[in-house]
Amino acid sequence: MLKIGCHLSVSGGFLNMARTALEIDANTFQFFTRNPRGGKAKALNEKDISAFIDFTREHKIADFVAHAPYTLNICSDKENIRQFTVETFEDDLARLEHIPGCMYNFHPGSHVGQGLEVGIDLIASALNQLLRPEFGTIVLLETMSGKGSEIGGRFEDLHEIIDRVEHSDKLGVCLDTCHVHDAGYDIVNDLDGVLTEFDRVVGLNRLKAIHLNDSKNSIGARKDRHETIGNGYIGLEVFRRIINHPVLRELPFILETPNELPGYAEEIMLLRGMWVG
Ligand code: FE
Ligand code: FE
Ligand code: ZN
Repeated sequence: MLKIGCHLSVSGGFLNMARTALEIDANTFQFFTRNPRGGKAKALNEKDISAFIDFTREHKIADFVAHAPYTLNICSDKENIRQFTVETFEDDLARLEHIPGCMYNFHPGSHVGQGLEVGIDLIASALNQLLRPEFGTIVLLETMSGKGSEIGGRFEDLHEIIDRVEHSDKLGVCLDTCHVHDAGYDIVNDLDGVLTEFDRVVGLNRLKAIHLNDSKNSIGARKDRHETIGNGYIGLEVFRRIINHPVLRELPFILETPNELPGYAEEIMLLRGMWVG
């Protein structure tokens, strides 16, 4: 069965979020670990978590993705911002140990003029500080559009980070279709070529999740503006190929399209209808 879902709000609790997923026929989903601006996280409610675990097992909802607050920057040029980011990630990772089968996705960060090499070094050393061999959670680096001084717009960036991390068995990659397209990878005309390149540079064994978004901008625009499925520069036929591709079809697909729940439900129905079981 196609594993597909969307970004959901956890503000009503974990069980509530899983119920919402079921209502829109999602069997996976993503949520922010806290306010995207990086505010304090709500304390985990043990009863809610255990009901969530039971409910998701019963309804075969799995491969959850917790998304780190994207306004933080683990490779900032300011020591206090780096420190705050590491502390936030540390707290998130400790909490996620209570949610089996949940991955942790983050944006590698922006080097803000320090240069790619310095940025990559800062990201890797933060990960070396954060990752513990006993962690159950897999940490995902997201492919980025490369806007501004963003790191992760090239597969090489991700490889270099992973290469410098000691417990790299805890690391994976989440490929965002809008981001890679905006970064200049031609998934429209040469999906196989892009995946071959990903395999050569990073390794397909690292690929753990897909963010399924169309793009409001043309290839290589380095903009990162998501569009609803089929209504952007990527187009519906490419999404049909992506979800059915032999090396991708078993991965969890998460929609981050500009939608409310009814729009997400429609996209999930559309994509389920296109998946060849
Ligand atoms: Fe993201
Ligand atoms: Fe994304
Ligand atoms: Zn994005």
